[in-house]
Amino acid sequence: MKAMDSARWLGANRSKSKWYRDDLQRRHRVEDALSCFDTSGAQYWRLAQSHARPRMKLFYADHFVLPLPPGHRFPMEKYQRLRMRLAASGKFVDDDFRVPLAADDATLALAHCPDYVARVARGALSAQEVRRIGFPWSAQMVERSRRSAGATLEACRAALADGIAANLAGGTHHAFRDRGEGFCVFNDAAVAARAMLFEQRVARVAIIDCDVHQGNGTAAILAGDDDIYTLSIHGAKNFPFHKETSDLDIELADGTGDRDYLAALKAALDRVFARFDAELVIYLAGADPFEDDRLGRLKLSRAGLAARDALVLNACKARGIPLALAMAGGYARNIDDTVDIHATTILAARSMFGA
Ligand SMILES: [Zn+2]
Repeated sequence: MKAMDSARWLGANRSKSKWYRDDLQRRHRVEDALSCFDTSGAQYWRLAQSHARPRMKLFYADHFVLPLPPGHRFPMEKYQRLRMRLAASGKFVDDDFRVPLAADDATLALAHCPDYVARVARGALSAQEVRRIGFPWSAQMVERSRRSAGATLEACRAALADGIAANLAGGTHHAFRDRGEGFCVFNDAAVAARAMLFEQRVARVAIIDCDVHQGNGTAAILAGDDDIYTLSIHGAKNFPFHKETSDLDIELADGTGDRDYLAALKAALDRVFARFDAELVIYLAGADPFEDDRLGRLKLSRAGLAARDALVLNACKARGIPLALAMAGGYARNIDDTVDIHATTILAARSMFGA
């Protein structure tokens, strides 16, 4: 980068995150390192990769197994399969895969009623509350839910340091302040967004929720938060049948395909970033807008879902906004499709942001 361009680039992004400034410094260090000797293209690429681009960390908790009765419709095994698929891709090393700490009561209470957190922890939920969540209560369910929230928290912190990171689960956006529903116990994105503000790491967070189901819990918890923007793009007739009000809701008709979905998402992203100067984005990359999903009512192809990811990734990258991903839902008839869709998202994020 020429000195003049660097100065202009830095000036234009003076208010951006520490990651953005560090990224510029890294580029300068690489250029300094290269200036003292003649470097071939391949050498340059290797040096640039090793010095300029931080590694993308992936937080996982799939080994904290939540026991489910036989025939339960939640595809719990997708998480381990996703991690194995990414490990086999050759794009990640062992150290990129991290086990998060469990989110403690005080952290969960940033977005949840302390009484709800305590009752989840000690197994004191009513039968109706348990039914609404959709998982039988167990100590393992509590631990897994804490770890999953912890994974999004740590992904946010890692994204602020490295530009990009992911929770290989999470996106439990149906959890409300004082109750869970739809396979969601704690709302990881709401907890993490509030925690990043509480820790004074950033001043504004945007949650971009592209799961086919509305992020109703997220919308309700964060309704009064001016410094957290919530966007949900979802099937109008999908669960939940009573929708909450996000900062921006895009409701799509049954059977909406790639072209209309992508046009609606592009317009929504333009609107979000025109109004809200996000310093961190949490992206819920649900696999369930897929045309062969058992629960979703939209008809996105695999290519359409990849184009959706590219829209979100590009929107953040172009503006220098760090990005933390969570996987959210995915219930394809063939579980391999769900795993492939999630893996494609992670690999696209890695190739655009990380190393
Ligand atoms: Zn969903």
